[in-house]
Amino acid sequence: AGCNTGDATEKYTVATDNNFVPFEFLNEETGEMEGFDIDLIKAIADEAGFEVEIESMKFDGVVSGMQSGRYDIGIAGMTITEERKETIDFSDPYYDAGLMIAVNKDNEEIKSEDDLAGKKVGTRSGTTSEEYIKANHPDADLVTFPGIVEAYMDLESGRLDAVMYDVPNVQYYVANDSAKLKTVGDILQGEQYGIAFPKDSELVEDVNQALETIIENGTYDDIYEKWFGE
Ligand code: GLN
Repeated sequence: AGCNTGDATEKYTVATDNNFVPFEFLNEETGEMEGFDIDLIKAIADEAGFEVEIESMKFDGVVSGMQSGRYDIGIAGMTITEERKETIDFSDPYYDAGLMIAVNKDNEEIKSEDDLAGKKVGTRSGTTSEEYIKANHPDADLVTFPGIVEAYMDLESGRLDAVMYDVPNVQYYVANDSAKLKTVGDILQGEQYGIAFPKDSELVEDVNQALETIIENGTYDDIYEKWFGE
């Protein structure tokens, strides 16, 4: 953050994921990124008095872009983890999530994570789901994809037995998919999303304050309702 010269408003680059419904995805008609995270970071920027320029990329690019300091802010449904906190700063949590399994509707074999041994389980590389499967299901046949949509498509076409991913994403996909997939089992690991920053960024405080304000004044609820309301 430079000093304020004249009326120039600071503009910060925001790295986001290119496809993680309903938090961020490309609106094909407008060519703009939209979703819960996009509305949230714009509301925070309005409140804190800065401008944002959104750049979308693969999820692991957001993580490395924070570590290298290439971008000022990252918002990508990114789970706050102890490991990431070693190289990245996070805002206060802004969304409670977790992990969940999806299978094809006619699958009667996989009813919970206890049934994953020997099964082809897909997820996205560089994510908490990949780590969870490696740590808890070494006997599952893990297949990773750069994008989660590819995993869902391989599940629907029968190349995978299950997909494990973030609860809100799995539920959104399952609800909008033409009734091919269903969720099974419980939420596997409680997680919280945070806005990411390069280590020791001066923006963390301002963003936390703005986040608190928009939670108190109802703006956060309006955005939540827009993307997760019935
Ligand atoms: N929440 C998951 C993670 O942080 C993945 C988020 C995403 O795909 N954008 O690893």
